[in-house]
Amino acid sequence: MLSLILPPDLDALRIILDEDPEFLLDAAAMVNCLGTCRLCERRFVPVAPFVESLEPLYGDSRRLHALLRHNQYISLSEALCGFCHADPGLLNMFQKMKKL
Ligand SMILES: [Zn+2]
Repeated sequence: MLSLILPPDLDALRIILDEDPEFLLDAAAMVNCLGTCRLCERRFVPVAPFVESLEPLYGDSRRLHALLRHNQYISLSEALCGFCHADPGLLNMFQKMKKL
């Protein structure tokens, strides 16, 4: 099922993602790994469960992780999108706003 939509090897996946980074959101939706950021409500893909889901398909989870981490929709956090997670200033601003 997964292999119908995702390319069979990582090089092909990289080419697709280079052309269309948003493809990652579709792929993540398929394996139920799509998250919504708790701060800005942007859709994003938490990298750990996503890599785990794709591991049966690609086997090489380290290379997969390295390939995905540069995608703008990937986040190292499971609760916050990459933009909020990478920007502590923004995070503080949101937390202050919530307290007001
Ligand atoms: Zn966010």
